[in-house]
Amino acid sequence: MSRWSLGPSLIRVSGWLRRLPDWGSSLSSETATGSLSKNRTGALLTLLVVALAVLGIAIDARDHSIELKAGNEPMSAGLPFSVRLHPYAVLDAPDPYAGPLAPIDDGPVDASGVRVAVIDNHLVDHPVAQAQYALALLNGYNLTGDRQRLALARRQADRLLERAVSQDGAIYFPYPFDFDLHEGPDVMLAPWYSAMAQGQALSVFVRLVESGETTYRAAADRTFASFLQPGRTVLVDRDGYYWPEEYPGDPPDRTFNGMVFALYGLVDYQRLTGDADAKLLIQATLTTVNHVLPGIRVPGGISRYCLAHAVQDAGYHAIHIRQLEMLSRLTGDPSFAEWAALLRADHDPNLR
Ligand SMILES: [Zn+2]
Repeated sequence: MSRWSLGPSLIRVSGWLRRLPDWGSSLSSETATGSLSKNRTGALLTLLVVALAVLGIAIDARDHSIELKAGNEPMSAGLPFSVRLHPYAVLDAPDPYAGPLAPIDDGPVDASGVRVAVIDNHLVDHPVAQAQYALALLNGYNLTGDRQRLALARRQADRLLERAVSQDGAIYFPYPFDFDLHEGPDVMLAPWYSAMAQGQALSVFVRLVESGETTYRAAADRTFASFLQPGRTVLVDRDGYYWPEEYPGDPPDRTFNGMVFALYGLVDYQRLTGDADAKLLIQATLTTVNHVLPGIRVPGGISRYCLAHAVQDAGYHAIHIRQLEMLSRLTGDPSFAEWAALLRADHDPNLR
């Protein structure tokens, strides 16, 4: 088992344990006047090791498993559920959706100019496709000030909102078609919902507000609220890990890339609002990302698309690397960049 398979706090504890024998050997060489003295020194050092390990576990519980209890207080006073949470920094990071100016893409749209998918010769609404189209349009608008792009982005956002369903103050964006994961046998049955759609729609609404379209603030707030409602698109597992799920089926897919795209939505919302819950959910998702990486990595090969299936995809492997590099810049934590380098060493998308 490599150190990469341990959580962040356990890495630190195991790091102490690795260093301690060095302290022991230097101490015992200075004090070794006989076997009895050596044995006493050894026993003391053993005690010290145990004490430090226990202390490390106690610190672990305090720092990395912050309990956030349910209550009647406002949500901003704490999350309404408990999650494992490492207090990662949340810094200004490059925009993951920025890119060079591109022509408005010519993918399928309906008569309203709204992005659709074509399934069995039918045009169907596709929440993530609509959100990604809007994000590309907004990137073009930011680069050019071309108001046609802004208007078209608004049309995608409005379709998302027209179709949204409400639950306890949150809104969700349904997929109106069945979807076979990896072409079966696990199937998402319509209507189904996805944290990736929630996160990318959230990014759209936030960026519209940032573009001066302030009427979308309520949409951003209500979409963010879905991240505070475990059950439909975000799940908390038995170990307390928080999972924004791209495919929250039974069992959930544990899709890596979709979780990170959902995280980008939380980052956008936190930037706009400074919301304390958003920061906690960012940290909780990052904690889960760190936790899941040993299962996603395939040493010497292409990383796994998800935890639930043995599916490897070179295109998504490249996305995983870019996402991990982005998370390193977002947090200032070099471990994510180290993971990116590991994945690149396993399979370099630029070489093969
Ligand atoms: Zn899968």
